[in-house]
Amino acid sequence: MTTIDEFASTKLASLEDKGLRRALKGTDRYDDTAVRRNRREMISFCCNDYLNLSHHPDVIAAAHTATDRYGTGSGGSRLISGNTPLYEFLESGLAAFKGTEAALVFGSGYLTNIGVIPCFAGPEDLIIADELNHACLFAGSRLSGATMLTYKHGDAAACEALLQEHRAKARHCLIITDGLFSMDGDIAPIAALSELAHQFDAWLMVDDAHGLGTVGAGRGSVQACQPPYRVALQMGTLSKSAGAYGGYLCASQAVIDLVTNRARSFVYSTGLPPATLAAAIAAIDIMATETEICFVPLNNAAYFCDKLGLPTPESPIVPLIVGDADTVMTASQGLEERGFLVTGIRPPTVPEDTARLRFTFTVEHSIDDIDRLIDALRDMKLV
Ligand SMILES: *Cc1c(COP(=O)(O)O)cnc(C)c1O
Repeated sequence: MTTIDEFASTKLASLEDKGLRRALKGTDRYDDTAVRRNRREMISFCCNDYLNLSHHPDVIAAAHTATDRYGTGSGGSRLISGNTPLYEFLESGLAAFKGTEAALVFGSGYLTNIGVIPCFAGPEDLIIADELNHACLFAGSRLSGATMLTYKHGDAAACEALLQEHRAKARHCLIITDGLFSMDGDIAPIAALSELAHQFDAWLMVDDAHGLGTVGAGRGSVQACQPPYRVALQMGTLSKSAGAYGGYLCASQAVIDLVTNRARSFVYSTGLPPATLAAAIAAIDIMATETEICFVPLNNAAYFCDKLGLPTPESPIVPLIVGDADTVMTASQGLEERGFLVTGIRPPTVPEDTARLRFTFTVEHSIDDIDRLIDALRDMKLV
């Protein structure tokens, strides 16, 4: 007989051996880019709060006001009693910002993907996915019961080859990609994938968790395409650039109405707290009206890459691949000692032997902050 604790301990020891055991560390984000960990004050270059809106006075004020007016919790799922009037403001704001007919807000981005994908794919259907898609897109695809095939990262020709070979055997087909890849910072070939979807009678889904607020004048990677392409399912999160929490789907009214009825992670999960919704409304409003801030994170990343002779970035996410898990954790520790929080990213989040430092740049990073980061990296012989 094996007790559950013995089982857990054995699994943990095996992770430890491979340098892959993770642990939570208390992180006090007390200002735009400032963090405190183990009493050490640092500048964070690893938050996804690209516009620093989680600390914006108007966003904070909106959250306070909503809490005073509506309380701290929504009290139920949205189809029962949790649909506060704030949802209507947020969803119409999102649809207008993204240029779609309608939008639906979920509890998180993860819940959006695992809820939406099974609404449009089942056991008779085919899902064709970029191999580096986010974990929750894979989770949603598996839940759907559809056949799932992956193509080489960013390679529309490889996607086409799969469509040619397998499309005819399936009833419906979904092509799924991150818009802006979270661990690599590059943008998917959305125009080419959209053409393929059209040509092969497939539906394209783009996960733009990192694209909102950072590319396409803040409207995202689909909106960055010229000319604009129609993407049937555009999802994203309110937890990154919007500085709040929650996920969303932007799509046609018919699609949104079906998802409202059928997505299990929507129907059977409680509505978001009013403060979170109000913060997201304020954040989207800032993106739409002070659009110039949406260009700053990418400009900061470009300054960093230019000074280091790295390829010109497509987004505010810059990976520096260092190899194995131990090396990246040592590098991350060295940066902490020099006053910079840059988490090491290890498998299984990224493929074997591509452990990396993942830098993210935000509006409030100064040129001086970036110069000091570069000095630290040179000092540690990482660049
Ligand atoms: C963060 C992320 C998600 C999940 O969003 P949450 O709101 O944090 O659950 C989904 N897809 C991608 C690409 C992400 O980076």
